[in-house]
Amino acid sequence: MRRVWVLVAVVSLGIFCAAQRLPEEAVPTHYRLSIAPNFNSESFSGETTIDIEVKSATTEFVVNAAELTFQEASVSSGGHVQKAQLTLDPKQETARLRVATPVPPGPASLHFRYSGKLNHELRGLYLGKDPDGRKYAVTQFEATDARRAFPCFDEPAYKATFDITVTARKSDTVISNAKVVSDTAGPRPGQHVVRFARSAKMSSYLVALAIGKFEFLQGAADGIPIRIYTVPGKKDMGRAALDHAERSLAYFNRYFGIPYPFEKLDLIGLPDFSAGAMENTAAITFRERDLLLEPGRSSAENEKNVAQTIAHEIAHQWFGDLVTMRWWDDLWLNEGFATWMESKAVASWKPEWKLELDDALAVNGTLMSDALADTHPLHQAADTPEQINELFDNISYGKGAAVLRMLESYLGPDKFQSGIQVYLKKHAYGNATSSDLWKALAEVSQQPVDKIMPTFVQQAGAPMIVVTARCAQMQTYVQMGQQRFFEDRALFGAGGEELWQVPVCLKSGDNSGKKVAEQCVLLSERSQDFKLPGCGFWTMANAGANGYYISAYEPTSLRDMSQDLETVLNPAERIRLLGDVWASVRVGRQPLGDFLDLASGLQKEPSGPVVEQLTATLEYIGDNLVNDRNRVAYQHWVQNLLRPIANELGWKVAPGESDERKTMRAQVQYTLGYTARDPEPYWEASKLAKAALENPAAVDPSLTEIVFDLAAMRGDAALYDKILARMKQTNAPEEYSILMLALARFGDPKLLERTLQLSISPGFRSQDTPPLIAAVMTNPAGQQLAWEFVSSHWDEIEKSSGGFNSSTIVQATGNFCDSGLRDQVSEFFSQHKAPAAERTLRQALERMRNCVAMKAQNKSYMASWLTEHGGGSGR
Ligand SMILES: [Zn+2]
Repeated sequence: MRRVWVLVAVVSLGIFCAAQRLPEEAVPTHYRLSIAPNFNSESFSGETTIDIEVKSATTEFVVNAAELTFQEASVSSGGHVQKAQLTLDPKQETARLRVATPVPPGPASLHFRYSGKLNHELRGLYLGKDPDGRKYAVTQFEATDARRAFPCFDEPAYKATFDITVTARKSDTVISNAKVVSDTAGPRPGQHVVRFARSAKMSSYLVALAIGKFEFLQGAADGIPIRIYTVPGKKDMGRAALDHAERSLAYFNRYFGIPYPFEKLDLIGLPDFSAGAMENTAAITFRERDLLLEPGRSSAENEKNVAQTIAHEIAHQWFGDLVTMRWWDDLWLNEGFATWMESKAVASWKPEWKLELDDALAVNGTLMSDALADTHPLHQAADTPEQINELFDNISYGKGAAVLRMLESYLGPDKFQSGIQVYLKKHAYGNATSSDLWKALAEVSQQPVDKIMPTFVQQAGAPMIVVTARCAQMQTYVQMGQQRFFEDRALFGAGGEELWQVPVCLKSGDNSGKKVAEQCVLLSERSQDFKLPGCGFWTMANAGANGYYISAYEPTSLRDMSQDLETVLNPAERIRLLGDVWASVRVGRQPLGDFLDLASGLQKEPSGPVVEQLTATLEYIGDNLVNDRNRVAYQHWVQNLLRPIANELGWKVAPGESDERKTMRAQVQYTLGYTARDPEPYWEASKLAKAALENPAAVDPSLTEIVFDLAAMRGDAALYDKILARMKQTNAPEEYSILMLALARFGDPKLLERTLQLSISPGFRSQDTPPLIAAVMTNPAGQQLAWEFVSSHWDEIEKSSGGFNSSTIVQATGNFCDSGLRDQVSEFFSQHKAPAAERTLRQALERMRNCVAMKAQNKSYMASWLTEHGGGSGR
């Protein structure tokens, strides 16, 4: 699965409860599944036969089932059919079958007739509506919702084959995991029965159905037919997706050394979808925004997202679908791998997107999630559906990807690839654990993978590596120490017991603009000495920027390094260094001024993503650390810093300009307008927003988002109404999303109140409720207001988002940097339990606490630094 918005994340003990696992007395081998939706009554009827292998004689069987009503249940074995007595346990989401005569070991089958509800919760078999108001039904089963559509052994290790049959309206297209083998009229007038070929062996969470009016584009890669399905009127927005899907599939055929293991591949764009995308075997479902692009009207950032989401899901067809984690405690292996692979694959045909720099940015963010006391190890026990769902976080995805990237860099890409191939071949159509992967990688590479990886997989958090270096006899003596990094100063100061085996790549320079030495070593002790050839003035500890750790330096060494920033360090290394210095600032190892000094030295920075790392931190400081007394001085200082770059970039997009430059323009103009409150970008954006509302083509797609965000800041009700009207009119997912989120960026509380009301109004798609409310919560002008709204409408919000997505809102409270709001959040959730966001809540409270502490620590320091460095009192 791919999540929707980048979340900050993760864990610990969670709610105490007994493991909700099925007893192991029988194993499913094959399902015969018939489903008939009734759109008028918003229900469905189903018939399921599960062939099982009974392990020892028994009179009882337990399967998963939730919100299903059973008409009949029976057990047959050796030609003998017994009616079963059925007991449902809604809390455990199980159905227990009891028969009079024991069923002997060997083959048997369970048979059920039942009905269920086509729900509105975006999980199980749920209902959506296309823009014409026509209903469709579609599945979202990961992690534990297949049981809402059919009784099953709903655990990833129970793989089986499926014969699926659907009875639908004649005008409905029916899509499932396998190819259609027959499509016949009946049984009633206006209906047809669609029968699918036997599927490959798969876990229940990967079963998929989509039933509704869809159209498609078709292509192929290496002989595998690929279709992009959309609701009517949108198929032309699937052109770019088809191209990226073809390239992805061909790339993975080569990379994995196993031909695509299924017979066809469908990618289905849905107007109602809770996640970003879902890797159902050969029938991948997507939120429209993550699949469809309006030709010629999309930003490069959005096309990157579409290409990467597609690559992520297609990578899962091998890593996740063909070979599946044995249990959810290894979810990170699925998600970390697919996240790591999405950039690697797309970079092979889009090197100009420089995705390695986006990855470096992402790792800086992930390290901050992992710096919370309530983070969790990659390998994390999870038993209840709520605990499992909470694992879909930045640790499983972001840290998983970063740790695999570090390992690939340590072993070399070829050895790493060979190890992956060995692992996939050995476990194809089966299940595996993370240690199975280490075994394969250690075997192929003959390197201590099985020593390194457990330290990153079993332990929570990440190390800070403190580097000191001195020069003697033409050699550089480097000492490195490691300690778990906490964002909380007191926790960091107290130190920890954790010890990692860290592959570290060192690089040294002597301010001549050339590197002196570069060498990779394994840091395995708490403190360890190394030698580099030649005399370096500075030594940095993340050469190549592939390490999953934070580096820290002595102030003099850092000053020397900043002389060589743009010559000896590459852009990815500069991004990671900015993150490292920020981490040192957070725990008081270095004053905030060191970060601002480093920022001042980057005024001519040519790399867009480096500027993005910088501006993101400047925005954080402006939103949270500046107070009313020094706000104007800070704004003035940021204006002085960014105006030269902004003037050079201007607002006009030149023909043939690179995507990187376009993205950088948007970022710089936005920060200048938002954080520095410079009037110029604001006026320009207001002008362009008006033009775009008349004619969307009037503004370059790279600027559309920031133009609306800036215009909204001081926008009035007239602008609000126009944005809302245009949002309701457009059928382009990217434009819709930009306009919707702009409604959360207004400064006028009355208008923000309207946005909050809109988020739970009838007709507003529930998939957008959590992200829209969360967006108001990240707008400093709307925080108090949004929190009051959330606390007074919690039940409606939970209902509209199926419970699961409310964790997006709990997480967004972590953006508050105010002790009063923190107390209100804490108090509220002590009364209103959010079981799918227990850890998320603890993390949000911790982030608020850390931010409030940092604000207090820097209060007088900010004022004196700004006076000294030309912030003055503003203009
Ligand atoms: Zn995924």
